[in-house]
Amino acid sequence: MSLVRKNIQNITPYIAGKPIEETKRELGLKEVIKLASNENPLGPSPKALAAIRKNLSQINRYPDSNCFYLKKKVAKSLNVKPANVIFGNGSDELIDVIVKTFVEDDENIITADTTFLEYAIIAKVNNRQIFTAPLKYFKYDLEAIKKKINKKTKLIFIANPNNPTGTYLTAHEIRDFLKEVPENVILVLDEAYETFIDVNDFPDTLRQIGTYKNIILMKTFSKVFGMAGLRVGYAVAVEELVSAMEKVRQPFNVNLLAQVAAAATLDDKKFLKKSRQVVLQGKNYLYDSLKEMGLAYVPSVANFILIDVGKDGVSVFKEMLKYGVIVRDMKQYGLKNFIRVTIGTKKENERFIKVLKKVL
Ligand SMILES: *Cc1c(COP(=O)(O)O)cnc(C)c1O
Repeated sequence: MSLVRKNIQNITPYIAGKPIEETKRELGLKEVIKLASNENPLGPSPKALAAIRKNLSQINRYPDSNCFYLKKKVAKSLNVKPANVIFGNGSDELIDVIVKTFVEDDENIITADTTFLEYAIIAKVNNRQIFTAPLKYFKYDLEAIKKKINKKTKLIFIANPNNPTGTYLTAHEIRDFLKEVPENVILVLDEAYETFIDVNDFPDTLRQIGTYKNIILMKTFSKVFGMAGLRVGYAVAVEELVSAMEKVRQPFNVNLLAQVAAAATLDDKKFLKKSRQVVLQGKNYLYDSLKEMGLAYVPSVANFILIDVGKDGVSVFKEMLKYGVIVRDMKQYGLKNFIRVTIGTKKENERFIKVLKKVL
């Protein structure tokens, strides 16, 4: 007899990108690069580091439960009220808060079948039913999602751009979709990679929140902002939704150093510009190299590329590991012959291509 709840027993845990230290330890390697978790390869902003140093002596105190200063800054940068913003211990925590706040026992959630794994895992942890619609040409298929909506649907999770494919839904597509989402269904738009976008038909979700009260926009400091290790994400929605979520989150969910570092990074325009540039340049280099190798990939608007390696992705991942290059196999996503690589620095990208050639 198991003491564990039934819904927990059947969950496959989230498999994270393999850490650098672990790889060094296990394989006895000195030089390891990680291109597995879509992090910023340049490190954190120097302004974030300075803010952390300045505040280190304060860590005997609880952090500000309301993220007052950070919230004010983020709200100002988005041109919304502080009451429209809620922070989480990464957007991962907010996914959980959203499910707990809005989905009743007998209600369901919809997302795509090949997307950020946390939506399904968190739905299952909370014992909520989740329906998934297949992608179409590696892209969210909004028609297929629409067909899954029933009377008991409460939430729809859409990652835009999508992870692990790097594809995006246009302003036009989202606008048309919103017209058909019932007003008692909340559409969560997870724009973790929005900061890398260099196309001009990406949705202006903040503007849509002015029209639709059933949208939650999620963003994170983990990717372009270079703060994955500190865990800060946030959501933007109408006050009614945000104030309900405030009741559910942990009171001290965002730690003190994370709050000051995030606020300082927001100010570091130079760092953000450079971070975006590194991704755009690296992407072109990787596209060219992959073409040269005759490998198919999915064009990406984010800081990672999904590549069809033409054979078992897990074995390619393991072989590359031996040469000190950590990528992500896509087995958990159901993409057997694919790997996902995060765009790194010039040197890292070159090493990735060199090792990939060797392994294939
Ligand atoms: C990386 C990522 C996040 C960010 O998660 P954090 O918990 O904020 O680090 C959220 N959504 C998607 C789709 C992601 O790929």
